[in-house]
Amino acid sequence: MSAENHLISALRAASAGRGANVFAMVPGGEDVSFGTLFAGAERMAAALVALGVEPGDRVAVQVTKTIEAIELYLGTVMAGAVFLPLNTAYTGAEVGYFVGDAAPALVVCDPARKAEIDAIAGDACVHTLDSAGEGTLRSLADGQGGFDPVPRAPGDLAAILYTSGTTGRSKGAMLSHANLVSNSEVLRDYWRFTPKDVLIHALPIFHTHGLFVATNVALLAGAQVVFLPGFDADAILDAMPGATAMMGVPTFYTRLLDDPRLTRAQTSNIRLFISGSAPLLVDTHEQWEARTGHRILERYGMTETNMSTSNPYEGERRAGTVGFPLPGIEARIMKDGAEVPVEEIGELEVRGPNVFQGYWQMPEKTAEELRADGWFITGDLARRDADGYISIVGREKDLIITGGLNVYPKEVESLIDDLPGVLESAVIGVPHPDFGEGVVAVVVCENSNLEPDSVTLALEGQLANFKQPKRVILAEALPRNTMGKVQKKALRDLHKDVFDDKG
Ligand code: AMP
Repeated sequence: MSAENHLISALRAASAGRGANVFAMVPGGEDVSFGTLFAGAERMAAALVALGVEPGDRVAVQVTKTIEAIELYLGTVMAGAVFLPLNTAYTGAEVGYFVGDAAPALVVCDPARKAEIDAIAGDACVHTLDSAGEGTLRSLADGQGGFDPVPRAPGDLAAILYTSGTTGRSKGAMLSHANLVSNSEVLRDYWRFTPKDVLIHALPIFHTHGLFVATNVALLAGAQVVFLPGFDADAILDAMPGATAMMGVPTFYTRLLDDPRLTRAQTSNIRLFISGSAPLLVDTHEQWEARTGHRILERYGMTETNMSTSNPYEGERRAGTVGFPLPGIEARIMKDGAEVPVEEIGELEVRGPNVFQGYWQMPEKTAEELRADGWFITGDLARRDADGYISIVGREKDLIITGGLNVYPKEVESLIDDLPGVLESAVIGVPHPDFGEGVVAVVVCENSNLEPDSVTLALEGQLANFKQPKRVILAEALPRNTMGKVQKKALRDLHKDVFDDKG
């Protein structure tokens, strides 16, 4: 085993000798220096060890986004343990599944939910941390001194992140120290993050985007963050003149576009807007450029792979695409065991130091998705254009097969989204007595004048008959999760009976 803790050494290196410099500006709170952050993390690590957490043990954490929660993440890794963050929206029963599956030594939760978590925690010990960073864990940590990080080799596990589990059971993606370090280094360099940067950090920290992309890249670059508990247009707009970069999910961008205070002047200090975790509509990209003069850089990744592709920093950021494979990472688009020609759709596979170590205690699932030669089958459908830009066309499981013919929802959605008065759409397949699946379009409009029939009419002649929605349903909004992803499974469930009358 190496004598150092691979991830912690990397995250600390950029701020070595600059401990007094500010890492996090917390609006309405005190600035947090790099020194304060790492000292807090050491006390957390010492507290975990005092509680009996051993190297390799899982520490499950369902807490509000605070600096102390970041210290807990770093402290867990320092203690040689495995950080297991959980979405704050999960119910007690859901947390019960993760705790049962991962068998953590410690569960950290909000004090308000302590009794509920105690009931499902089994052998794990339960401590608390609240939205002010206070709680029993913090009290224990406050009484601790410094801590020498437990040595961890690049291949050791640093974190397990459960996938959102839109089909079947949620799976724990095991991420090694090297997975996290290599990806953050690549992103820091590709996106040119330096100690001069100030990143607006409004993403949740239970997900790869806010935890690894935003937090790790900022630490690795020795950059500052404006640390916001969540999306808040006022706070983000206030922070913009003092910031140089923002990472967001597409809904950040659409919501900010709704605000008249978003102007060229307000964003003039920013050098980079990054979007990911869900598709950014071409329209949003174009509106953002028209309003601010900035072209959003869209990238693509997933819990299992960290980030795999990105539009270029210099050079054309092509709307509707996720750019090229990042340095050191390979991507291929496959169909029937061979790579597809340019512009054809296939399944996206990626390989590189970013790819996870497999699913926690699911060797069969791992073998299904992670090939022995290192290629990971992402489950995303993609196409590459003649210049090499990759577009994500949707999840494979969202592919519609109607009368034996494939319909890629994105193709239909793009045409619907272009219709006047349409804000966005989701095209799904639901059971159909004749065709197996029937195409249904759920459409969100700007005004209530649009009729379902006018959508159907407008698509005629633009799409082969079998791709045309057999039903158009108007909706006020599309169901989305916290990361801005449209929940197609929820839509399929909601509309599963629309063809019961054979319509
Ligand atoms: P998660 O594991 O929660 O990060 O979800 C990963 C999935 O989000 C990917 O497999 C994609 O389906 C989707 N995704 C992430 N980034 C993008 C993007 N830029 N465009 C389209 N889909 C994306």
